[in-house]
Amino acid sequence: MSQRIAVIPGDGIGTEVISATRTVLDAVCRRHAITLDYDEYDWSCERYLRTGAMMPADGLDVLRPYDAILLGAVGAPGVPDHVSLWGLLIPIRRAFRQYVNLRPVRVFDGVDSPVRGALPGEVDFVVVRENVEGEYSEIGGRLGRGHPEEMAVQEAVFTRAGVSRIADYAFELARTRRGHVTSATKSNGIVHTMPFWDEVVAERAAAFPDVRWRSEHIDALAAKFVLQPGSFDVVVASNLFGDILSDLAAAVAGSIGIAPSANLDPTRSYPSMFEPVHGSAPDIAGKGVANPLGAVWSAALMLDHLGHTPAAQDLVAAMEATLREPGTRTRDLGGTADTRTVTVALLDRLGPVS
Ligand code: ATP
Ligand code: MG
Repeated sequence: MSQRIAVIPGDGIGTEVISATRTVLDAVCRRHAITLDYDEYDWSCERYLRTGAMMPADGLDVLRPYDAILLGAVGAPGVPDHVSLWGLLIPIRRAFRQYVNLRPVRVFDGVDSPVRGALPGEVDFVVVRENVEGEYSEIGGRLGRGHPEEMAVQEAVFTRAGVSRIADYAFELARTRRGHVTSATKSNGIVHTMPFWDEVVAERAAAFPDVRWRSEHIDALAAKFVLQPGSFDVVVASNLFGDILSDLAAAVAGSIGIAPSANLDPTRSYPSMFEPVHGSAPDIAGKGVANPLGAVWSAALMLDHLGHTPAAQDLVAAMEATLREPGTRTRDLGGTADTRTVTVALLDRLGPVS
């Protein structure tokens, strides 16, 4: 049985890391007798500049039948962020109910974390960010523009269903890992939504008596990401808190070039989307020096989601091996290797092509 993947390489280094990742995916799939069928779409800021739209009007209908979406990065100089966000990423997340944003964080052997004490093997956690509700609502407005008493109001929206399902996802994930959940809150300052978040998380926790959990205020939690990054397993957070924590975590891990992400519909009614955390990086685009590992790790998350866990583990093991070798580290990691050298090293690790 084959599975269908929609590939959106995007802009800048997105196209370079996706091309590398396709080669590596071919190798690992051959090894595990997995058949993936790919279709590529040129949806991007480059397309926006040419046609006025990031994707065609029926783009979501085009994507719906796929089993997964693999995205490089979108963004281009002169195209404001809201174009790529509202023209592509947010419509996909919403239409396909991708209510989980998953960001695994690890300090690998061979990668220097800027954080003293963040040692390889010790830092290994996952940030589970609520991806569709919370603080990023469009409810609110501005009153009295330019007036000395001008004000702005922004509502945050949390639903019982929305908090329950993200909590359930985090507790279930913890079961497959080290059995611990940290829930980010700020119920001492945000007096309606955060106590509600805490209550619903506590209720759901009761259904997972085998998982330990604690609640921590976001300010203290952010400090702990830096001071004791080895103390986390699964961290669950609202949309805004999760956004901030996941970038902080990627920085703690040592390079944005490695960080992967998944936008998941855990019910599997719709395709989930997998993309590296980094952007299109116009400063290094076209030079062949981008680190492909963020995209490769994202592809491993995709394989895992599609039910191919051993293949996903093989990919991650190949990543670990290339990172251990100074000669196959890219410039963002202090090395001199280019994208091709890393790709070839990954292919070598994934065994002979039959
Ligand atoms: P965004 O607009 O989403 O922030 P960006 O294009 O500015 O995207 P970032 O992801 O913020 O890119 O990356 C910041 C810088 O880090 C890049 O300009 C680049 O120098 C470096 N960088 C990012 N990803 C990689 C990578 N995969 N390999 C090597 N360097 C990278
Ligand atoms: Mg940037």
